[in-house]
Amino acid sequence: MVVLVSRDGVARAPLGRQRAASLPDVRLVLVPEVLQRRQDGRGCRVAERAQRFPGDVVRDAQEQIEIAHLAFAALDALHLDDGTDQFPSSNLEFTAISTPTNASNVIPGSATAQLNIRFNNLQRGADLLPPRRDRALEVAGHHRRELGEAALRRPPEEVALTGGPFGLRRTIVSVRVNPGSPYRIGRRDDGTLGLSLEGGSLADVTLPPMPEYYRHTLAGGKTVMETAPTIQWGYLIYLTVLRLCQYFGAHEECGFCDINHNWRQHKKAGRPYTGVKPVEDVLEALALIDRYDTGQVSKAYTLTGGSVTSTVDGLAEADFYGRYAQAIEERFPGRWIGKVVAQALPKADAQRFKDYGIAIYHPNYEVWDKRLFSLISPGKERYVGREEWHRRILDAAEIFGPANVIPNFVAGVELARPFGFETIDEAIASTTAGMKWSYAPPPRKHTF
Ligand code: SF4
Repeated sequence: MVVLVSRDGVARAPLGRQRAASLPDVRLVLVPEVLQRRQDGRGCRVAERAQRFPGDVVRDAQEQIEIAHLAFAALDALHLDDGTDQFPSSNLEFTAISTPTNASNVIPGSATAQLNIRFNNLQRGADLLPPRRDRALEVAGHHRRELGEAALRRPPEEVALTGGPFGLRRTIVSVRVNPGSPYRIGRRDDGTLGLSLEGGSLADVTLPPMPEYYRHTLAGGKTVMETAPTIQWGYLIYLTVLRLCQYFGAHEECGFCDINHNWRQHKKAGRPYTGVKPVEDVLEALALIDRYDTGQVSKAYTLTGGSVTSTVDGLAEADFYGRYAQAIEERFPGRWIGKVVAQALPKADAQRFKDYGIAIYHPNYEVWDKRLFSLISPGKERYVGREEWHRRILDAAEIFGPANVIPNFVAGVELARPFGFETIDEAIASTTAGMKWSYAPPPRKHTF
């Protein structure tokens, strides 16, 4: 992945495939100014070898932007000469940029750039130091402080959209940042935030409040945000307790899901990756939420993660997820509504969820269309089958009550290329048919 960062700090669209392929490990290229400078003989190489993780695009981009500022500013600080007939101009080269942890899935608190002054026969090394070096360090130091501030900035998990030309009702949207997206959120002249598309205003934007419990950490140093983040403006505690799915590989994983891709990336990079979130950590984080959420804004928790087709920690899926619910209900009886996003399990297993304290069950449809289900969720098709999946959803309604079984559709996936519908109308018609099937009035007559 190669991201272009222009001098104004805006991450541009990824470089064309051809160039990206020729630079497989390079993810930062500064253009067009740097390339221009190189042509002028005042070249500067800034490249960073690093892995990029899905879902961290914005963090990478933010990091890159800050480093880009550093690079440009330091470069500006050192105009030495215009070169001679024999040699190019003396210039400043970045020979390495590194972070203390080498982690690429978080914004580092600091980054170190190693600079090298390459000079021609118009210069003498002794003359270049210390004044030039001091000036470069001064600039670099200034930007190092900026990078420190950047480390504290995070894209919000979600935003609320309202108003605009369509008079939108307040809608909470989960944030996925893509530097190449035509949608932009920015500050308008009056200081408010707005969502725009190619310059045209679409909606007013508000950001979620920072809950007090995010300022606290667990005894082991983990944050509440990474252990038990809240979404839906603090309403729902989202507990991804298993970051690996046993539907594994191209013939089993759901086409829209990156859970195992993340796992593979971490493994490939040799990083420790805890697939299973310890129950104790979850309880500790929940204790902090319970303590500091004095307004009781958080009202529910969701247990979610990968599917278990055999066992994890010696437990089958219902017992694996159920043990978290059991521990939470024992420690905080009735404090939150318990939900689980899991496979459509046989009736006896769904009953186990209920017995562990789960009130709401999400055995997701993913996509309604029969052909697309087998293509997009091949593991579910193979292990369970679409019709059996639907049958189990109905069975679960007898256990939890119809209102408490809420299988979701992955909106938009029915249009995904190359197998999806050609038109939005066809996609909407298909998902609408699924919704109608869900809401078949009593006596329920479901066809399979
Ligand atoms: S079953 Fe769930 S976790 Fe597994 S690949 Fe599909 S969507 Fe992802």
